[in-house]
Amino acid sequence: MKLDTRAMRHLASEDWRVLTAVEMGSKNHEIVPTPLIEKLSRLRGGANGVHRSISALAKVGLIARVKEAKYDGYRLTYGGLDYLALHTYSSRKEVYSVGDRIGVGKESDIMLVADHNNVQRVLKIHRLGRISFRSVKSNRDYLKNRQGGSWMYLSRLAAMKEYAFMTALLEEGLPVPTPIAQSRHTIVMSLIDAFPLRQISSVPDPASLYGEVISLLLRLAKHGLIHGDYNEFNILIKENKSLDESGEETITLEPIVIDFPQMVSMEHQNAEMYFDRDVNCIKRFFSRRFGFTSDEPGPFFKDAKKTVGKDGAKRLDATVEASGFTKKMLKDLEAAIKEKAGSKEEQASPHSGGESEVDDETEDGDSDDSDEGNLGEGDSHTDEGVGADGSSIPGESD
Ligand code: ADP
Ligand code: MG
Repeated sequence: MKLDTRAMRHLASEDWRVLTAVEMGSKNHEIVPTPLIEKLSRLRGGANGVHRSISALAKVGLIARVKEAKYDGYRLTYGGLDYLALHTYSSRKEVYSVGDRIGVGKESDIMLVADHNNVQRVLKIHRLGRISFRSVKSNRDYLKNRQGGSWMYLSRLAAMKEYAFMTALLEEGLPVPTPIAQSRHTIVMSLIDAFPLRQISSVPDPASLYGEVISLLLRLAKHGLIHGDYNEFNILIKENKSLDESGEETITLEPIVIDFPQMVSMEHQNAEMYFDRDVNCIKRFFSRRFGFTSDEPGPFFKDAKKTVGKDGAKRLDATVEASGFTKKMLKDLEAAIKEKAGSKEEQASPHSGGESEVDDETEDGDSDDSDEGNLGEGDSHTDEGVGADGSSIPGESD
């Protein structure tokens, strides 16, 4: 599922109201009954106006009619939720335009966006639970039985958790992107001008980079945290250039860590397994890619455990709970992330079939890329101009 902002410009303020009504209705209804949409959107034009908007929204795939339900109703699609988040960012002046997609995970889309001053930022859209929606019918029953198991809920939890950790880590001076905003299943953060470690074929001094990467892992541990997916994709390597005394340019490599929805506490019941897995991931990568193996064994969990909270390190493992997360939310999210890890292989070719009747999202894998993110022109919003790297998002119009 790719974010396609083309239809955004063509939505009228009534359409946004109706879309918002479907979102509100989704909190208590898996399929939102049409009369409820009418009630929640409270349009002046009455039911007719609502029906017109419903058709417009369904046509561009922001809501989807659910036919087999006992009653007539609609549900919000990923596209619909994406639009609502963008609409919020736009009205808060946090995002002005949407540019290229720079990363595609199985559980996220990473987009380049820009603010009103044309400062580039990164929009991360969480797409947890998509797997369940894509796969066959048995999964649907499973989803129904699992309370709170919806993609909307899980993806929002992932975004909230990631935002909370990024904020806390930055406050403690750890090298992470700057979190800028959060809405629904998405976050906006600063763009790091760096490549993932994965894309780096050689470094002048693997031993020192290895040291940096491991010491970052140990710094997290000191704050009571295990990254949980600490690998060459989630560590960006920034080149810092500086001039030494003789005026010669020296380059130092600085690891910056990203991707936090799966972070766990050093107190987690499987903490040692997660810790060792993170350490081994790094060791394996340095050995394969750079032919570097450290002389020192470890680091070991039991040693790291002793450092938690030491030297004045603030414990951050309670951060998400402090930011309004309940234990149940954390458990739901953890279960979903585990499930996704387990089904990665099965998902290797996302377009290999397995589409079900639940999956009526507007999948657009084969759509024309040439005008990606282009919102088009020729309506009341053209006076807002178009960002250099994409096109502007129409602002709140009511
Ligand atoms: P996922 O959960 O899908 O793995 P990530 O947060 O790891 O998502 O991001 C996927 C990729 O997008 C990263 O490997 C990196 O290349 C790029 N990326 C993500 N965030 C940023 C950022 N703030 N600055 C630059 N690149 C980023
Ligand atoms: Mg990642």
